[in-house]
Order: sequence, then C-alpha cells, then structure tokens
Amino acid sequence: MTQEIYYKSASELSSSLSRGELSSVELTKVIIERTEAVDDRVGAFNSFSAEDALAQADASDQRRSAGQALGPLDGIPIGIKDVLAVEGQPLTCSSKILENFISPYDATCIQKLKKRGAVLWGRLNMDEFAMGSSTENSARGATSNPWNLDCVPGGSSGGSAAAVAAGEAALALGSDTGGSIRQPASHCGIVGLKPTYGRVSRFGLAAFASSLDQVGPMGRSVEDVALLLQAISGHDEKDSTSYQEDCPDYSLAMEGLKNRKWKLGLPKEYFANIADATALEPVEKAIEFYRSLGCEIKEVSLPHTEYAVATYYIVATAEASSNLARYDGIRYTHRAEKFDDKDSVDIYCQSRAEGFGEEVKRRVILGTYVLSSGYYDAYYLKAQKTRTLIRQDFVNAYNEVDALLTPTSPSPAFKKGSKSEDPLSMYLSDIYTISANLAGIPGISLPCGYSDGLPIGLQILGQPFKEEELLAIAREFEDAHDYKNQHPNL
Ligand code: GLN
Repeated sequence: MTQEIYYKSASELSSSLSRGELSSVELTKVIIERTEAVDDRVGAFNSFSAEDALAQADASDQRRSAGQALGPLDGIPIGIKDVLAVEGQPLTCSSKILENFISPYDATCIQKLKKRGAVLWGRLNMDEFAMGSSTENSARGATSNPWNLDCVPGGSSGGSAAAVAAGEAALALGSDTGGSIRQPASHCGIVGLKPTYGRVSRFGLAAFASSLDQVGPMGRSVEDVALLLQAISGHDEKDSTSYQEDCPDYSLAMEGLKNRKWKLGLPKEYFANIADATALEPVEKAIEFYRSLGCEIKEVSLPHTEYAVATYYIVATAEASSNLARYDGIRYTHRAEKFDDKDSVDIYCQSRAEGFGEEVKRRVILGTYVLSSGYYDAYYLKAQKTRTLIRQDFVNAYNEVDALLTPTSPSPAFKKGSKSEDPLSMYLSDIYTISANLAGIPGISLPCGYSDGLPIGLQILGQPFKEEELLAIAREFEDAHDYKNQHPNL
C-alpha cells in the first residue's frame, strides 16, 4: 500500500489538515509537483495555474489558523472538468471554438466549492463539448489511461478520471450526459457518481443535452465522493430543473444505512451480450459478495434496453444542435479570419467549420436532421415516447428491488485509436450507462477488479434522489476490498 500524500483520500487529507499535520499549501505543492511529474504522459489537464492554486491554499491555511475553517473540503485541491465556468479562468470545452474564452462568472457548483474553501485546481481535458467516450475528441489532444498509457481513460470526463487516478487531484468534478462520469471512472479504477437529474445545479455547465446533463463527483473512495456530492448538491433558483427538496447529510445517511439487507436486481438485458467475458468476471464476483452479505439478489427485466442507445442519439443530438447554435463566431467564440463580407451567414459557417471538431459536427448535423419538420415525428417524437418507456422500465424494476447491479462498461479501457474511425462502436461503449440519463436516475461506478491489468467498474443504479443508498451499497463493497488503495504505477 502506498503512502504518498498525493494518493491519500480527500477525507484522510482533510483530517490531516484539521489536526495541523499538513497545511493546504504543502498539500497543494505536492499535487502541483505530481502533476508536473506525470502529466506530460497522462495529459489530464488542459491548463492550470500553480500560482493561483497556491494563493487559494494560502487563504485556506490562514482561515484555518484563525479557527475559521469552512468544513471538510477546505484546502483540498479539486480538479474541474473544462466544461464548468470558473470566473476569470479559461472555459474551452476542449474545443477550438472556445480556445480564448474566459468565464465571466462561476457555475453554481463552483460557487458552492468556493464557499467551502476548496482549492480549485486546473481545467481537465474532456471530449469536445462532452461528446465522446474516450477523451480522444479533444482539440488539445487525447488523455491517456494512467494504468496503461496506450489505452483511453474513457470519456467524456477522461481528464477528471485520469487526474484522480494518477494523484494529480484529490477529487474532481465531471459531467454525465450518457455515462461520462461513470464510464471513465470505471476505466481508471476510481469512484464516480452521476446524481439524479435535478440534484445538482446545471447553471454554469456548458450545455450539451440539457434534459440529460448532470454534474457529479469523482474520487478515490466512496466517502470522498459523498463529501463532494454534499458540497455541490441542492436547490438553485438559477436552474429551473433543480430539485426543491433539501438533500440529506450523505456521510451520515450512508452510515445509518450500513448492513441493510438490500434487495438488488440484475437486469437480464445487461448481462446477455457481453463480448468480453473477462470484464464480466469481477462484476459477477461483486454480485456474489452482496449475496454473501445476505442481500436478496434477483433477476429483473428492463425490456426497452435495446432501444436506449438509438433513443439517446436522437434526443442528445437534437438538444445539442440547439444548444451549440450559440457558438456562432459573433459573440465570444473563434471567428474565421476569412469570410465573405457581404454575407453574414458566411461568418457563422466558416467559424463553425473551423472551430468544431468532426464528432461535434456529426452530432449537430444529426440533431438538425431529426428535428427537421419532415422527420420530427418519425425520429424525435418517437424517441421521446421510447424514453418514457425506458423510464417506466426502471419504475417497474424499483417496485421489486432497491437498486440494480450491472457492469459499468462492456469492456475494459480500449486501445487509443481503436474506435475513433467507427462512431457506432464508440457509441455502444455507453450501452449500460445511457439509460440512467434517459430515466433521470442516479448511478455510481466503483472499482471491483481487473482484467489484464486494467480496472473494471461495478455500476449500481438507484432510485431517484436516493444517492445515499447507492453510497451505502457501494461502501459495503469498498470496505471489504482493497481497491481504493491500489493505484497505477506511473
Ligand atoms: N459517450 C456519450 C456521448 O458521446 C456520453 C457523453 C456524456 O455523458 N457526456 O454522448
């Protein structure tokens, strides 16, 4: 077991800070040094400012010495996916079209982190506008998986997952529209949670597909993820879809739910066609573990699963085509140098042609097509109806069980370049995560073993606004295994 400070959990670091064994400046220096030592290989960061991070850390130390520490995250370095607005910092979404954009304000989740004294540490790489599953669709270049640098870290929050796995940040924020927190967490051997739609404010999150997007926490332990979830959750009047009710104290609620005899469902459709059996083995062992605790394990059916990927690629692209219309080369984005002065539409066309990458263009074209008047009923309307059926499948399943156990991804992290020429095979890597976004339910991925030296994730899907149950179920597994103390050799 490694003792390096950069691999300690945020909760351990938090105790060291409050006992005065470590200062936030010392900790932040360790993280900066670690990042400088490994990030030329990992490529998790789009940008960072050591000076700015140290100034935040210093402010935290001063608060603490005045007896005014702001809670468990005060002084802890947290990496931010480059899709969330932090006032005065670049916000690129890993796109050329936003290469020079500086955020004029803070996202609500960022404001909440600032109020809790967190050290906002760097901008993390991602697939452009969060479209992808490998962090290869990035204007900055691909991020590598810290467990095997030839492999992808997953996506789209691949920079967040890789940074946490490699000890370049204690925690990170990601966003999940179809699996972008859970799938990279699973490929990088860390814990990632997609909250229920509405649990975390989307204000200040660059929109991809507004009815699916959620911000969520990524960390090296379940406890850490609970701490970060606590900090960012809650109602926000700036997001009309944010949930009105207060959230519980997740760490306390998680303790209170310890040793429950859960009823856990195995959706049979999720276990039917797994191509890579070695990736399934650790998941099956995890299921046996819960059985051995006395949980009731039961097969359930989510019969509309086979339509999930198709439904998602209609709904998500439709919303994306509308959301991305704002990047027009006029207001704040990249503007083409050469365009036809007599034709203002040409500014849009040239700037967007130069500024967007291939995958983003593909989605905008698809989305525009499915929304066009002649095809709306055939595609968009039908997808909305199918979405309702997918949601109903979960409602029915939760009449029988408390939560569902599934693999997070059909395979371990794949080789870089192996799927980039085949968008459909890339889309299929989200087959187990996408339905949760369509249904709005929460999901967590946690490490449960390895296949060929690459981490495998167990996904637990829960009922709306019962994140504490997911955390409690995940914690039982984590406590009985040593995965949170295993780290890549970099
Ligand atoms: N991989 C999926 C996509 O490409 C999901 C992305 C996400 O969750 N942001 O759309």
